[in-house]
Amino acid sequence: MTDTVLQVRNVSKAFGAVQASDGITLDLRPGEIHALIGPNGAGKSTLIAQIAGALRPDAGSVWLSGQDVTALGVAERANLGLARSFQVSAVAMDLTVLQNVVLAACGAQRRVWRFFRAALRDERLIAPARAALARVGLTGEAATIVADLSHGQRRRLELALALVLEPTCFVMDEPLAGLGADGSAEMTALLAGLKAQAPILLVEHDMDAVFALADRISVLVYGKIIATGAPDAIRADSDVRRAYLGD
Ligand code: ADP
Ligand code: MG
Repeated sequence: MTDTVLQVRNVSKAFGAVQASDGITLDLRPGEIHALIGPNGAGKSTLIAQIAGALRPDAGSVWLSGQDVTALGVAERANLGLARSFQVSAVAMDLTVLQNVVLAACGAQRRVWRFFRAALRDERLIAPARAALARVGLTGEAATIVADLSHGQRRRLELALALVLEPTCFVMDEPLAGLGADGSAEMTALLAGLKAQAPILLVEHDMDAVFALADRISVLVYGKIIATGAPDAIRADSDVRRAYLGD
């Protein structure tokens, strides 16, 4: 228990006749990037949604730092340290970069941010907000209105919104999607540095990034994990090559 940040135990979820999760068990350990790969429709997003609390499993359990959170919702799991990044438009476009992170630092839900304008002048929130911006390389954009950011910068801001709450783990569904080569390289470097602070369960289609970043990889096919291991072992696994990597 103690050396595992996130545990998924025998999680199953059906949509009608489709068994999207079929008895999935996996762990996220301190300091690691654990990548979850598999073909389209394998059930990756369904699993992420069950871990985040957006979708309730039919059976099985999800544990955060040794606590059974299966019955808890998204907000409660977030309060327990689970950061689910890259929820699109978590940012307020008419505020500056720094203001967005300050408001995230007070833990406010997006829809009540307008009640929290006083927080924007609170140094106890501004200091950690600036630190989070530094982590994602946006110090120079602190005073920029979000609407004027590039797509890649906006994605890094979304990461800062999660980071400022000092999460104990991240789950990310395709953080590189829609980023160009430069944005992708920046985000990849950022994720590599982030894992020491909070381990990352990473769903990502970009196999070059996955094999460069991951400490362990699990392969999901038709709702079942068919292999878990170090990147070299996964690359060499004949079942994985047959089912997914194109042999
Ligand atoms: P992935 O993210 O690996 O591409 P998903 O988790 O999105 O896969 O989907 C797994 C399977 O579950 C697919 O067959 C998909 O069509 C189905 N599915 C996912 N969400 C729903 C839903 N809300 N209703 C019905 N079927 C769904
Ligand atoms: Mg998906």
